Amino acid sequence: MTCKVLKEVFFTAEAVPLRPAVFLDRDGTLNEEVDYLWREEDLRLLPGVPQALAALRQAGFVLVVVTNQSGVARGFFEPADVERLHAAMQRRLQAAGAALDAFYFCPHHPTTGRPPYVQDCACRKGRPGMLLQAAADLHLDLAASYMIGDKEADLQAGVAAGCRPLLVLTGYGAESLRRLRHQGVEPCVFADLAAAAHAILNGGCPPASTAS
Ligand SMILES: [Mg+2]
Ligand SMILES: [Zn+2]
Repeated sequence: MTCKVLKEVFFTAEAVPLRPAVFLDRDGTLNEEVDYLWREEDLRLLPGVPQALAALRQAGFVLVVVTNQSGVARGFFEPADVERLHAAMQRRLQAAGAALDAFYFCPHHPTTGRPPYVQDCACRKGRPGMLLQAAADLHLDLAASYMIGDKEADLQAGVAAGCRPLLVLTGYGAESLRRLRHQGVEPCVFADLAAAAHAILNGGCPPASTAS
């Protein structure tokens, strides 16, 4: 009992060194894009994903999934279903020698669905709420971190949190890239997560991006 209390006091009193993270969008980045995915049998990891995650983790990055799941607000599935799917994803990654450190999801939608999930929340990407929460929970160095995703909202959330945003061309990535270029924005773009991870680990990412 005493030990537990002392340990808590110790850890809250000491300055904890900040760690770099890679924030990861889920659908279209880690796994095949499926409309309102919630069933484990529809979960298909994209090629090279376990290897890429293992390499990033080996290099010292904390791996955090940040995913918008408005299917909860819309009543398509429950928060427990999202958590079950994330547990299944983690099991598959562990079986392949990889793992994620944390999962954060936003169950809300600003205009559509059921209470209490219909709300203009701070966690739905393009806002940075989930990244900021993870940074506080896990002692992350946002300026040394990356956000990888296939949609503009992923890049916007990354920029808003002070991270370096990377677009992947899996999922909705190609459409997102077309729209961004139409707006005169040239994001840092990679074929898939494996290519993005390779660039991060080999210094192939520009230090700043105008994607927002
Ligand atoms: Mg996505
Ligand atoms: Zn939210």
